[in-house]
Amino acid sequence: MTAGDTIFALASGAGVAGIAVIRVSGPHAGAALRALLRGPLPVARVATHARLYLPAASGMGPAASGMGPGGGARGAGEDGVLDEGLVLWFPGPHSFTGEDVVELHIHGGRACLEAVTRALAAVGPLRPAEAGEFSRRAFENGKMDLTQAEAIADLVGAETEAQRRQAMGQLMGALGARYDGWRSRLVGLAGEVEAAIDFADEDLPQGLAEGVFPKVTALGDEISAHLADGHRGERLRSGLTAVILGPPNVGKSSLFNLLAGREAAIVAATAGTTRDVIEVHLDLHGLPVTVADTAGLRGALEAVEEEGVRRARARAESADIKIIVLDARDWPDVDPAAASLIDGDCLVMVNKIDLRDPRHTPAETLYIGDGKSKTAVYCVSAKTEAGLPDALERLATMAGERLGPGRSAPLTRARHRQALEDTLSALRRIDPGKAIELNAEDLRLAARGLGRITGRVDVEDILSRIFAEFCIGK
Ligand code: GDP
Repeated sequence: MTAGDTIFALASGAGVAGIAVIRVSGPHAGAALRALLRGPLPVARVATHARLYLPAASGMGPAASGMGPGGGARGAGEDGVLDEGLVLWFPGPHSFTGEDVVELHIHGGRACLEAVTRALAAVGPLRPAEAGEFSRRAFENGKMDLTQAEAIADLVGAETEAQRRQAMGQLMGALGARYDGWRSRLVGLAGEVEAAIDFADEDLPQGLAEGVFPKVTALGDEISAHLADGHRGERLRSGLTAVILGPPNVGKSSLFNLLAGREAAIVAATAGTTRDVIEVHLDLHGLPVTVADTAGLRGALEAVEEEGVRRARARAESADIKIIVLDARDWPDVDPAAASLIDGDCLVMVNKIDLRDPRHTPAETLYIGDGKSKTAVYCVSAKTEAGLPDALERLATMAGERLGPGRSAPLTRARHRQALEDTLSALRRIDPGKAIELNAEDLRLAARGLGRITGRVDVEDILSRIFAEFCIGK
């Protein structure tokens, strides 16, 4: 990866579409556009309708591209027209990457894309971009900090409204501003301590205890409070997980299929990582919940052996929410293994309510529990869909309790958490009783920890990891 290269990539989604956007960035972007237009550059930052031609000196002329007897170079029309569409010219530094940028909005067919990208590759020293390379250049040219670059990836990946809002806030700089604010306070404090070291003869070190120490403690407390957020921001980013559990034949798969097939709020149904796990992504009032039906667990509660129950329990414990399904015909007798899983993180559904004599179906809310903690039970039918809206509403409420209402600018990534924890432990080591040089070093370490989050210092080693998760063209 070389910053001086001119790169290009499809910026819109892959696959056939009405319009595709190709983005070019780097010092040769303007020359490439001139070659494709066979004319001057359009007015900067104004969308201009134009024809794109096979570049004259591209080495793709008739001889090089195998012009047939019927005339016409490969990829071009009779007169060398590749496509027509909108072109945009963003001379640096006023562009997404800070470099000269060109956007070509062409027809989204595979052959159009192929013809235009082939022409770009041939027109000069241009090469296809690597994953995340546009955003990386934007960061390196000071267009955004690292939290904002990460927010772009999150925004592109956001499946629900709450995820979009969180990513948007981060992209607007809310998170970066918080960390930068803390960092500049630390840099200020470090300056005071450095001064105390430089002027040690004048007995200034006392100042550390008097002035700096309470400020260090206060900042440590702020960071600590920010860390103690129940991982809400991180969980919102990745989505909550719910797992369906219960004895065999109670209707777990039927309920899962109902969610996967009928529930209007569904984002996508995907096969999980293992053969046995099927997941469905739900959008519950903007909150992302991934429900897993674990075929491998289906018989688990049936197993008399400890092992089966242990596996079910382990799976249940790793989920944020357990959906426990019971059979209405057995109610109020509850399978002991299922009952042992019930706690405050459960949504209990008593299924097959259609098979119960309505005269014996309790009208009031049912509860299950040991008297100390009671959990409401939802009577449903996977067959008639009775009671399902209420149960889903409860699931949405449970998701809301775990994900929101979020604080503004929450912590969203394990990378940030790690850096903040490093910062906090450096701050907590600072002690007026210690040698001032040791305290100065811890202040420096603390500031560096915060700087790592936004990319102010020591970033080289972490850049590749961050931008590697981007897709090409971002
Ligand atoms: P699982 O083993 O818990 O996944 O249970 P299944 O979803 O495979 O369902 C077991 C049987 O119960 C199937 O024959 C379903 O058609 C039936 N079933 C599931 N839910 C209902 C329901 O709400 N009402 C009725 N009448 N039958 C149901």
